[in-house]
Amino acid sequence: MDCVELGVIIPVYNEGEGLYKNIIKIEEYIKKLNITYNIILVNDGSIDNSWSYIEKLCESPHIKGICFSRNFGKEAAVFAGLRSINANATIVMDADLQHPPSLISQMYNEWKNGYKIIEAVKNERVDSWFSKQRASIYNKLLKNMTGLDLQNSSDYKLIDKIVLDNLLTFTEVNTFYRAMITWTGLPTKQLFFDVNERDLGESKFTLKALIKLAIQGIVSFSSIPLQIVSIVGFLFFLFAILLGAQTIFNYYNGNAVTGFTTVILLILISGSVTLLGLGIIGLYVSKIYEEVKKRPQYIILKTIQ
Ligand code: UDP
Ligand code: MG
Repeated sequence: MDCVELGVIIPVYNEGEGLYKNIIKIEEYIKKLNITYNIILVNDGSIDNSWSYIEKLCESPHIKGICFSRNFGKEAAVFAGLRSINANATIVMDADLQHPPSLISQMYNEWKNGYKIIEAVKNERVDSWFSKQRASIYNKLLKNMTGLDLQNSSDYKLIDKIVLDNLLTFTEVNTFYRAMITWTGLPTKQLFFDVNERDLGESKFTLKALIKLAIQGIVSFSSIPLQIVSIVGFLFFLFAILLGAQTIFNYYNGNAVTGFTTVILLILISGSVTLLGLGIIGLYVSKIYEEVKKRPQYIILKTIQ
């Protein structure tokens, strides 16, 4: 693929009816810039008619299609796009117009001003109170543990070729695009935008998928949970010494604690803390397991160049 000025990567999963008109709309905004461009549509194993729309869209010389063998997740789709794009600046955005294409020209201008990363940051979200709290608690946790501030951050970003080249040297299979970009620390400009309500269809991210992504973010960028396990273990050790000394002292003084209540409480507390600790270690072990297998992040069934 020849190097173009702007590359746009759009992951697609069951976008159905809205897809065609959304992509045409995005392309209209790009055309206004009067620069060379390519759009890569990555079909992440859609089971609806998304691929046939992509085939139709690929009649345009500027639009390319990649089709996965099955659903591998948005991260995989984004990275498949990043690996096949050849552009001086690259934008990743959603297919559902929740990332407003009107921001593209502003992003492009900021890039021309010399910024290497232009990230679109969501204004106060239109989500429910519960979703907002959930996002805010998670972001605070992530910031404390990793130093990465992802508050209201989205995957909607423009990155310079230097960022892309560096990103592609990362060897992990479990990627977290948004955090990896922030991690590079290259000069960043933030632009703010309002998240539109989805026109058609619904969010593909179930609570389960969000929890998986959240755990992934912490486990791949911080080892603090492991240190917490060690600290809690140490505190329990101190507690055990004190309680043990007291118990022995009482025993020899003839007033040992009677009844099972204390024993039951101790067994329950120490049992659950041990299991929790093992669980945290398990998360890291499973990540190591996935990483050492070095399986490909996705399988491409076909492409349209
Ligand atoms: N997406 C994907 N694979 C998935 C889930 C989502 O490629 O397994 C794409 C989807 O087609 C869309 C983008 O990722 O272009 C964001 O998805 P969605 O709108 O469902 O997420 P939300 O807006 O709720 O974060
Ligand atoms: Mg969306």
